[in-house]
Amino acid sequence: MTFLAYRVEETEQGIQAAWQTLNDDDLPAGDVLIDVAYSSVNYKDALSASGNKGVTRAYPHTPGIDVAGTVLASNDPQFKTGDEVVVFGYDLGMNTAGGFGQHVRVPAGWVLHKPQTLSMAQAMAWGTAGFTAALSLQKLERAGIRPDAGPVVVTGATGGVGSVAVALLAKQGYEVVALSGKPEQENFLKGLGASRVIGRDEVLALKGKAMAKPLYQAAIDTVGGDLVSALIPQIQPEGAVTTCGMIAGVKIEASVFPFILRGVSLLGVDSVEIPLADKQAVLNKVADAWQLPQLEGMTTEIGRSELPAVLAAILAGQGVGRYRVNLQ
Ligand code: NDP
Repeated sequence: MTFLAYRVEETEQGIQAAWQTLNDDDLPAGDVLIDVAYSSVNYKDALSASGNKGVTRAYPHTPGIDVAGTVLASNDPQFKTGDEVVVFGYDLGMNTAGGFGQHVRVPAGWVLHKPQTLSMAQAMAWGTAGFTAALSLQKLERAGIRPDAGPVVVTGATGGVGSVAVALLAKQGYEVVALSGKPEQENFLKGLGASRVIGRDEVLALKGKAMAKPLYQAAIDTVGGDLVSALIPQIQPEGAVTTCGMIAGVKIEASVFPFILRGVSLLGVDSVEIPLADKQAVLNKVADAWQLPQLEGMTTEIGRSELPAVLAAILAGQGVGRYRVNLQ
């Protein structure tokens, strides 16, 4: 069968991308062939679509690290034709043709059963960014962070991970401080439930300090670099900081003092390579106890023609909220 895919190619003029007609035979070998209804746009997709070799080694390539769709064919008994499924992470969209194509073929070990209480469209409003926000909150709660014990600050707050983190924390009753480089999005962030919006400069002013006034119980950091470095000394005793991203830098500068004098924990979050059972657990949780009705209002659904512009905006740090791609 033929289908449309957003193919990124290396040419003499540089990286070029266009929707092309492909055949199922062009897809890699795998157990489950999926008819993709929706994908979503994440920062990693913007890197892959712009030729970043740290994400995608070889082109031509179809990016898209998220998929919600219907099984067309399966040689694994766990999945049958017509099943609604979700795939996120592992190698999807990195070096395996991903969700910016109407068909994908993947190993059965990557495929999640979609809970009935979550539509395919809702699953892709969450997408990798949203699941990462949920995994971050899960890590904080396992570290003892509680709604009544002080504010939680979220960096990159208007971005995919950040915006869902703000909304999810607020829904669970946390006082949320949104840290954003987009002051014009204050109303958006307060609408998600942030009680206060602060700029990057307010935090960066404390860069280099070993210890500072402990303003926050915890942080969900999505950007890395100087911002998280400056936040760690501002965390309350026995507080915690999750780290998942590197848009602001891959290096963290910290003294040991917040860790040894205040018992602060630094918690890494990986949504890509965690066991399938852990992915299924987080998918089930957002379909149930952590349902987020306001997610639809913070998600922009785009068609195929709008994908290049959204990828460019995300690469430039200008995305706001979540972007779902309708592949039909
Ligand atoms: P988005 O592009 O949607 O959001 C990133 C946000 O970060 C921007 O909207 C902006 O928010 C802020 N930002 C951009 N540039 C800078 C900068 N130079 N300094 C400080 N802040 C900046 O990305 P995602 O939410 O999809 O991903 C966020 C990060 O998390 C990425 O690095 C991504 O690779 C990583 N990630 C990791 C995962 C994992 O499993 N570990 C899974 C998913 C994502 P604002 O203007 O509001 O400050």
